[in-house]
Amino acid sequence: MLIIFDLDDTLIDTSGCITPVKLEDALRRMVEKGLELPDFEDGLELLKRLDSTAESSSRSLAEFLEILNADSSLLEVGIKEVYENIPEDLPVFSLEGAKEVLNELALEHQLALVTIGKPVQQMAKLKKAGIDSGLFSKIAVSEERNKKIYYKKIIEDLGYSSSEVAVCGDRIPIDLAPARELGCKTIQIRWGRGLNSTGFKSDVDYVISHLKELKEIISSLMTFSIF
Ligand SMILES: [Mg+2]
Repeated sequence: MLIIFDLDDTLIDTSGCITPVKLEDALRRMVEKGLELPDFEDGLELLKRLDSTAESSSRSLAEFLEILNADSSLLEVGIKEVYENIPEDLPVFSLEGAKEVLNELALEHQLALVTIGKPVQQMAKLKKAGIDSGLFSKIAVSEERNKKIYYKKIIEDLGYSSSEVAVCGDRIPIDLAPARELGCKTIQIRWGRGLNSTGFKSDVDYVISHLKELKEIISSLMTFSIF
């Protein structure tokens, strides 16, 4: 089988390691650029609370600025800080069991990675988390929120039919709905934004809360595809 993974909050703990630090940096940057905030800590608390249920940091920043009735041009400042400026020394950890599960799956299956973000940042995060990029036959980093074209291209390039492909990610609309449209099996990991992911449950075949559960799912998919 071909198993295509998302990166953020699927293989690495973005919402635990990166998001809290970057939201604070973004808030500081927006204040430098003129955001009026009566109290920084209260502002940060509000921003983090909004982010905990938001689909993305762009959304929570937008909502935050709207609540404060702030200049909307500050949104760009905040977004740039969150997505394009990950400090060298910021530690990034993989999700529990990620490396072991990837290593084991790679023995019998082909793996690929499709992630949204800046290519340099995404590859740096992968490396920092200690995940071997050589485990993946294909890695695609998209700067647009459209994974379908990448899924399609990878599936074709590697010579699979969509019924032999499983896609694992945390966000239903971004990661799984396009995979379902192509006819792939979909696995949602309940982590980070996946915990409050919007989208249609009908786009999800399996829900897991730990990557270790993947092995059994992939084995059962193999059994079904044989018969
Ligand atoms: Mg993700």
